[in-house]
Amino acid sequence: MDDVINNIRKMQPLQKFFIGIDSDGCVFDTMEIKHKECFCPAFILHFTLQPIAKFARESWEFVNLYSKTRGCNRFIAVNKTLDLLRSRKKVRERNANVPVMKALNEWTSSETKLSNQALKDACDRTNNPELKLVFDWSSDVNLSIKKLVKGVPPFPHVVECLEIISNKADAIVVSQTPAEALNREWKENRLTPFIRTICGQEVGSKAEQLQFASQNRYDPGCILMIGDSPGDLQAAKKSSALFFPIIPGQEEESWKQLFSEGLERFFNGSFSGDYETQLIASFQKRLPEDPPWQD
Ligand SMILES: [Mg+2]
Repeated sequence: MDDVINNIRKMQPLQKFFIGIDSDGCVFDTMEIKHKECFCPAFILHFTLQPIAKFARESWEFVNLYSKTRGCNRFIAVNKTLDLLRSRKKVRERNANVPVMKALNEWTSSETKLSNQALKDACDRTNNPELKLVFDWSSDVNLSIKKLVKGVPPFPHVVECLEIISNKADAIVVSQTPAEALNREWKENRLTPFIRTICGQEVGSKAEQLQFASQNRYDPGCILMIGDSPGDLQAAKKSSALFFPIIPGQEEESWKQLFSEGLERFFNGSFSGDYETQLIASFQKRLPEDPPWQD
């Protein structure tokens, strides 16, 4: 994996502009199917949450789809969801056993490449049963995504945007999905000719991916991140990139806007300032911080 990172660090500009593009929930409408059909059922099974399945599902979907943590790394999502479950009165009333994943918390705080392989290495190193449980869950999720998530095309207007992007910018995929799935999904939809490379969870955080691929190689104002989650926005700002949001629930309109005015503004230097501020403000209003339930 270090070779992959080195190659990304050495990537030389072919264009004046650089664009990082998130994949799940941004290019592809895959968030709902992946979380509802793959991540969540395996979460309930592996973490023995059957007695509180309804709350586990509600909490998983809130953390991963419908709140400010949408799109976060899966291993971070496990502890966020378990914490949220533990805080619910209805869960406590049932005396349900919500596992405390201390070793997972330590691992996600100290490891920057939160990938299946890195977790497997940690399992081999420590022989920790808790980490092994998380690894089994994650591997199971990967298998069910491979089996289930097929034939999901990109959102409308994505291809038109990618055609413009690839003519004017060095574009890469910036994602926390495993590279194997990203390669499959981008190839299946014949989108790989539009991009220079694909960064998955194995490369590091999204901010690191952007920095590895663009740092010191493009002028300020010439780097853009396109994403659908607050984590994408944070990664952009950490890397001094501009940000164009694909707003959850309004993806089609967002891509249309990027196609009809956003890209042009980025390439002609009128993106930063009021235009970007307004886009980010309407994006931030979209996802809540706190859950809708009271109990
Ligand atoms: Mg996303």
